[in-house]
Amino acid sequence: MVEGAAVETCPRCGTFAPLVDTGLKRVCGPCVEPSLHPIQRARGDVVRLLAGLWQVMGEFGWLLLVLLAALLAPWWLYAPLKPATWLPFLFVFLSMMSAAEALTFLVWRDRRLRGRPVEWSALAPAIGRVWVANLVLGLLSLFCSPVAFLFGPISSVVALAALERRGALDAIRTAWARSDGGRVGLVVAYLITFIPMVVATVVAGGLVAAFLWFGGARGAQVVEPAAVAALVGMSVGMLPAVVLQAAAWLSTLPGARPAGPP
Ligand SMILES: [Zn+2]
Repeated sequence: MVEGAAVETCPRCGTFAPLVDTGLKRVCGPCVEPSLHPIQRARGDVVRLLAGLWQVMGEFGWLLLVLLAALLAPWWLYAPLKPATWLPFLFVFLSMMSAAEALTFLVWRDRRLRGRPVEWSALAPAIGRVWVANLVLGLLSLFCSPVAFLFGPISSVVALAALERRGALDAIRTAWARSDGGRVGLVVAYLITFIPMVVATVVAGGLVAAFLWFGGARGAQVVEPAAVAALVGMSVGMLPAVVLQAAAWLSTLPGARPAGPP
């Protein structure tokens, strides 16, 4: 029984009962456990966190991939080889990335987790906050690069900015506080998501370079296309790392939780 809770109809089973807020939905007591996403039970457990991440990849990873390809492909082909365009390229990359993240995180939460229509009015402000959060995280990585591999516990920052209307610093504080009890698992999961990114970058760049080299090309004729291929490989390979940001948010979301390991 929840003290002071009004008695309502549970949207999941139709029972007339006091409803409990799971952080995503309001359901009756017996419906709390079955309505949790598997990743909400993964607290601190790397294997369950990665299994949950795989499931979340299936839930919106394809949408993110399509969006990133559409938004970034023209820039992959045009900008990276001309040093004068690196700064605008980073700016565009940050903007496109932030738009893709805010959109997919919002659609995933509203449609998939809550089963409601998407709150489109939240999109534009979410993109702005995600943009700032990504910039702050990027600067932090730059100036704290030796400890950037420990960023796992704050990997939900971008999702917090997109989904809970938090500013970058508030998001960092909240992400850190909520990860209490599961930080080691998040560090390990975060590191593991770098593997596909590194592999995709090296393999894509290496294959193109080898193909051109054996075709008789030398110098810039090899290096430039290989650099573009590596960038495309990186953009696809970083998908798990981006999806982890949303998965980490869900796995550390406060609200009704199972009392112990189920
Ligand atoms: Zn119910």
